[in-house]
Amino acid sequence: MTRVRRVVIAGGGTAGWLAAAILTKQVGAMVEVTLVESEEIGTVGVGESTIPTVRAFHALLGIDEREFVRATGASFKLGISFEGWSREAERYMHSFGKLGHSTWMADFHHFWLEGRAQGVADELGAYCVEHEAARGERFAGGQDAALNYAYHFDAGRYARYLRERCEADGLTRVEGKIARVERDGESGDIAALIMEDGARVEGDLFLDCTGFRALLIGDALGVGYEDWREWLPTDRAIAVQTTATGPAVPYTRAIAHDAGWQWRIPLQHRLGNGIVYASDYLSEDEARARLLSTVTGETLIEPRTIRFRTGRRVKAWERNCVALSLAGGFVEPLESTSIHLIMIALTRLLQLFPFDGVSEAAAARFNDMAQREVEGVRDFIILHYTLNQRDEPFWRRMRDMPLPDSLATRIALFRESAQAFQASDELFTVTSWVQVMLGQRLMPDTHNRLARMMPPGRLQQTLGQLAGQVAGAVRGLPVHQAYLDRM
Ligand code: FAD
Repeated sequence: MTRVRRVVIAGGGTAGWLAAAILTKQVGAMVEVTLVESEEIGTVGVGESTIPTVRAFHALLGIDEREFVRATGASFKLGISFEGWSREAERYMHSFGKLGHSTWMADFHHFWLEGRAQGVADELGAYCVEHEAARGERFAGGQDAALNYAYHFDAGRYARYLRERCEADGLTRVEGKIARVERDGESGDIAALIMEDGARVEGDLFLDCTGFRALLIGDALGVGYEDWREWLPTDRAIAVQTTATGPAVPYTRAIAHDAGWQWRIPLQHRLGNGIVYASDYLSEDEARARLLSTVTGETLIEPRTIRFRTGRRVKAWERNCVALSLAGGFVEPLESTSIHLIMIALTRLLQLFPFDGVSEAAAARFNDMAQREVEGVRDFIILHYTLNQRDEPFWRRMRDMPLPDSLATRIALFRESAQAFQASDELFTVTSWVQVMLGQRLMPDTHNRLARMMPPGRLQQTLGQLAGQVAGAVRGLPVHQAYLDRM
């Protein structure tokens, strides 16, 4: 086994620069890190909404929040507002907070369901601080924040911010196009990237961060792709940036349309907008017209179409190559999970880092965890689509399609008994599953009877107290835009 002394990162999008940042910071003293990117090719230019795990990763990188928020035009995010997903005129929030108080025997939503049956419960969100803060557009963050939050940031500025940090930490950056990938004649491992100008960039371990092109894992190593189009047929997005027209809200908006959905991501200096759609149901011209007719503010760039195929690379780690993000697969951005998946993959890579040479066992462990996690994300995304009560052909198809067994079982369990769970290696918590299942109008037939054993009036009193505490906490928070302005 070749000892790993040189790591080569192919690609300088969010995946490449995050990899560079964590490797230089954590193992830079032991391995030499080189990043190769092409300004002419550029990056995918989207990916601006995150989930709270981003903050743990930033802590590993030693990122100062104030500096980061300033450098990337970031705003804060407490959840996602789903608009028109169950029925056209309805809206619900998937927030990052916890709901009420759970007991070991029954999660909070069982008490809420009982309260609702007795006519003494408020809306579900009234029991979650992040939910109510998002609705009221209030926010406070920082080290001591009681809120569980994430960020919206400008993807281009984020990559530049990470690049500056990496270059200060001694990373070597090579500008230019990779013309081909050279494999070792004996072992079959990747030996070097051959640049268009003939330069060779040699390494012991290669990270494929070349985006949808997947030059290393796909083209050079021929690792197959598992296609998930049968469950997630959206395959195009058009993205456009516009000027901000009002205060930034502390949540991402996901607005359903007849063949997919639109995103709206508020930053300090602009809005990120996009439309995701299934090309079998909507033409590019129609999608573009729809996007441009619904954005607010002036457009800052030409709308850009991005084609994608939902699925995953059968192995993310093959030989001496690890594929990150778009090179390794893609589940559409409805729950803003891709950047998280980059971060968790890098965390695992560091835990399993092959200093003494690539081992098949480590790669197998990495691949196994990556598969389980991304399948959990896939199921969660499908959930939003399949539990709909809309009447257009696209939505009818999504409602009627056969589901992965893992998801069908989960839905059946919740429908029968309101039981929700978070499997090991799974990203989304019980609260997340519950918010989306109830938000999509999956009302359980029954629930845990624990709340019925409470003395008369006690459930109403407890629910009232909880809602009162949430409302009080939210009243004490500054308005999100004011908080940003002060920062
Ligand atoms: P890219 O940004 O495409 O970077 C690829 C890099 O490889 C570039 O630097 C390019 O120059 C380089 N490269 C390619 N070929 C060559 C070559 N031959 N020679 C040299 N260099 C080369 N994720 C989220 O977490 N939240 C979101 O809200 C979100 N929204 C999204 C919306 C859409 C429509 C899409 C498609 C994705 C979204 N994602 C989101 C995913 C997110 O954009 C990606 O995870 C993230 O940007 C990482 O992309 P990347 O670095 O893998 O690829």
